[in-house]
Amino acid sequence: MELIDTHCHLTFEPLAEDIEGVLERSKAAGVTSWITVGTDPQHNRKAVELAGRFDNMYAAVGIHPHDADSVTAQIITELKELAQDVKVVAIGETGLDFHYPQDGLRHNFSKQPAQRRVFVQQLKIAQEFNLPVIIHSRDAFDETMDILEQFGSGVKKVVFHCFSGSPEQANIVLTKGYYISLTGVVTFKNAHKTQQVAKMMPTDRLMLETDCPYMSPEPMRKQKINEPALMLHTAKFLAELKGMDLTDFADAVTAASRAFFSLPPNVLECY
Ligand SMILES: [Zn+2]
Ligand SMILES: [Zn+2]
Repeated sequence: MELIDTHCHLTFEPLAEDIEGVLERSKAAGVTSWITVGTDPQHNRKAVELAGRFDNMYAAVGIHPHDADSVTAQIITELKELAQDVKVVAIGETGLDFHYPQDGLRHNFSKQPAQRRVFVQQLKIAQEFNLPVIIHSRDAFDETMDILEQFGSGVKKVVFHCFSGSPEQANIVLTKGYYISLTGVVTFKNAHKTQQVAKMMPTDRLMLETDCPYMSPEPMRKQKINEPALMLHTAKFLAELKGMDLTDFADAVTAASRAFFSLPPNVLECY
């Protein structure tokens, strides 16, 4: 059995300082490939560098909507350069996050017009280099879809990471030919809506991720620092929810992930 953590932040601390240990524990749990996702210029550079050091590790480069306010032309130029690295398999995470009110206590997050502008700039890069896009969309599903619509078939491969929408929205994602990726959140007791989404998703459009170091799945939720090894719990939970054998489920979502990101076959370790 082989699983791919399609969205992790291995450049974030404390994961980065123990990367060898993190990867060893991950492999022991059957999670043998990783896509480490950048969120800002510094982590994009680190993600490309880290992916260059390890077999079966790939990078995505992008600017998180929370960081949109500070994006300059120079940052976009650098993003374009990084996007051409051989280990870069996607643009992201990018998108819209309208969860926090524009004024009030959390006004330090980026303004909506800046989020829209930077999202479009990144979709243009994805289009130019024919790369898949990892979408971070929170409380902004319709707006995200509207912007994707403008690109039409120019941006074909799209995954909604850490999907938190309704079954109706999941259906729209399916109709468009897009994908959904689920984190350990789906294992939480109160995650009824996301569990409904998981049940209806065909396995060839479903991917798994940790989004670590955040959000450990049950029964490891108390482990404050999530890591790729714990994705096995999410896989087990989902296989059971869908009434599938774990190996069959893992094979199906791994095949979907490999096809989506155009990953080469697993590099086997030689001794
Ligand atoms: Zn995200
Ligand atoms: Zn993330």
